[in-house]
Amino acid sequence: RIEQPVVIVVFGASGDLSKRKLIPALYQLAYQNLLPANFTLLGFARTPYTDDEFRELAREGVTQYSTAGFDEHLWRWFSQNLFYMSGNYDDLESFQALAKRLEELDAERNTGGNYLFYLATPPSVFKPITSLIAETGLCCRTSADHLRRIVIEKPFGHDLESAKDLNQHLLNLFDEDQIYRIDHYLGKETVQNILVFRFGNGIFEPIWNRNYVDHVQITVAETLGIGDRGGYYDKAGAIRDMLQNHMMQLLALTAMEPPVAFDAEDVRDQKVNALRSIRPLDPEEVDQWVVRAQYGPGVSEGQEIPAYLEEKGVDPHSTTETYVAWKTEIDNWRWNGVPFYLRTGKALAGKVTEINIVFRKPPLMLFANLIANPNTQVPPSNVLTLRIQPDEGIRLTFDAKRPGPAVNVERVAMDFSYSESFGKDPGDAYERLLLDAILGDTTLFIRRDEIEVAWERITRILNGWKMQEEKAAQAGKRLRLPRYAAGTWGPKEADELLARDGRYWRNPHTV
Ligand code: NAP
Repeated sequence: RIEQPVVIVVFGASGDLSKRKLIPALYQLAYQNLLPANFTLLGFARTPYTDDEFRELAREGVTQYSTAGFDEHLWRWFSQNLFYMSGNYDDLESFQALAKRLEELDAERNTGGNYLFYLATPPSVFKPITSLIAETGLCCRTSADHLRRIVIEKPFGHDLESAKDLNQHLLNLFDEDQIYRIDHYLGKETVQNILVFRFGNGIFEPIWNRNYVDHVQITVAETLGIGDRGGYYDKAGAIRDMLQNHMMQLLALTAMEPPVAFDAEDVRDQKVNALRSIRPLDPEEVDQWVVRAQYGPGVSEGQEIPAYLEEKGVDPHSTTETYVAWKTEIDNWRWNGVPFYLRTGKALAGKVTEINIVFRKPPLMLFANLIANPNTQVPPSNVLTLRIQPDEGIRLTFDAKRPGPAVNVERVAMDFSYSESFGKDPGDAYERLLLDAILGDTTLFIRRDEIEVAWERITRILNGWKMQEEKAAQAGKRLRLPRYAAGTWGPKEADELLARDGRYWRNPHTV
C-alpha cells in the first residue's frame, strides 16, 4: 500500500479515457489495497456535474470496465474519494477556483498538498492547462514539502517540431522527472516482459544479434475500421496513431542493449540509443522503405466495412494512411544488416500485436526437401514470437522429425501462455502506470529525448509523403494511395516490400 497521500486531478474527467480506463484502473488498485488511505480524485472538466453525478458516471465505468468486477462495499469506500468541479481549461478564474478546492480537500482530507495532474483532454488544451496550473501557483518545481507531477496522454505532438515545442513548454514549468509522458503499451505486462525475457535469462541474449537473427517483424494489426472516429483519425493516420509511439517503443525494447541497472535513467538511456541507431531515412527515398495504403470495402470479423474514403468524417480525397509498413535498419554493432519490418493497420484480417524474431537458416539445409510446406521457398524454421496481445505469450518454432520410419520433417512450436502459467490474464496497463506515477517511478514513461528522436525518424517519412503530395499537386494530379480490401492482411505493395528481400510477412498463428 502507498503511504504518501495524493490528490489526482484529472483534467477532461468527463471523457472516455477517464470512464473506460483511469477510474476502473484506480478502482482495481483499491481492490488490491494499493491506494493510500486518503487517496483523492478530483475530476475537472467543462461539463457541469455535481460530485454525485460524477460518481454515478464513475460507477458506470467501473461496472462496465473494471477487471476486478464490482463490489458494493469497496465501491462505497472508493466513491467517497471522488470529487468533481467544472471549469474552463483556459480561464484563470477556473484555475483559481481549482486551487481553492484543492486547499479545502487538503484541509478536510489531510492530503499533504501532493498533486498528480493528469491531462486526459485533447492535446489542444495541454498548453493552456499547464500554463494556468503554473500561474495559479499549483505547480511546479520539485519541492521537499510536497509532490507535484504531471501525466500527459498521447498524442505528444504531431511532428518533431510540435513535440519539441510541447517539451520546451513543459520544461519551462516542470522538471523532467516530474513529467510522465504516457505510452500505455509500456504498462502492458507483455511489453515489460521483453526486458525480463531478454536480460533475465542467459540463453537468448547471446543469439539476439546479427550473427543469428535474419530479420525482425513487428505487427500491430486491428480488425476494426475507424468507425465513428473519422474526424480524429483523418488528421492522424496509422503512423501517428501507432507507429511513432507504441511501435517505436516495441522496437526500442527489442533492439536495445542491456541497461546497467533496471532503473528509469539506465533503461531509458538504452532505449534512446536504440532509437538513435535507426537509420535516418532520406525523404526522397520514402517509397523504397515505406508503404502506405487505405482500406477499401470488405468484411472484417463478420462486419461490413466501407472504404476508408467513404467513412463518416473522412475527406473523400484524403491521403491519410490506414496502413503503413516500414522497413528500417539499425546501424549499430548488434544489428547491422538486420532489417526491422514494422507494419500496422486498421481493418486487417486479425487483431494482434506481436514481435517476430526470425533466426537465420542453418548453413546447410540437410532436410529442406523433406519439409512438407506449401511455400516453394523453405522459410526459416526458427522464429521467436513475442505475443503482446491477445493470447499473451511466447512461442518458438522449430523443425522436428515426425515419428515414423521415414525422415519427415514438420514444423512445431514450444509455447508459453501467460494465462496457463500464471492462472490469470495480464493486468491492465493503466493500473500499472497510474501506480508508478503515484509512486514516482518514471521507468515506464517516455523521456524527452526518447520522444524527440522517435519523432525525428518518423517526421522524415512524413516529409517524404508531403513531397510526393506537392509533386502530384504541381503536376495537377491528386495522389491516390494503394488500397487493400478490409479483412485482408494489407496491400500487395507491403508484400512486395519484403519479397524484394526474399522474405515474407509472418501472419499470426502460422507456423
Ligand atoms: P475525449 O473524451 O474526446 O475528451 C476528454 C474530455 O475533454 C471531454 O469529456 C471534454 O470534456 C473535453 N474536450 C473534448 N474535446 C475538447 C476540445 N476540443 N477542447 C477542450 N476540451 C475538450 O477524449 P478521451 O478519449 O477521453 O481521451 C483523452 C486523451 O487521452 C486524449 O488526448 C486522447 O488522445 C488520449 N487517449 C485516449 C485513449 C482512449 O482510450 N480514450 C487512449 C489513448 C490516449 P468537457 O467538454 O466536459 O470539458
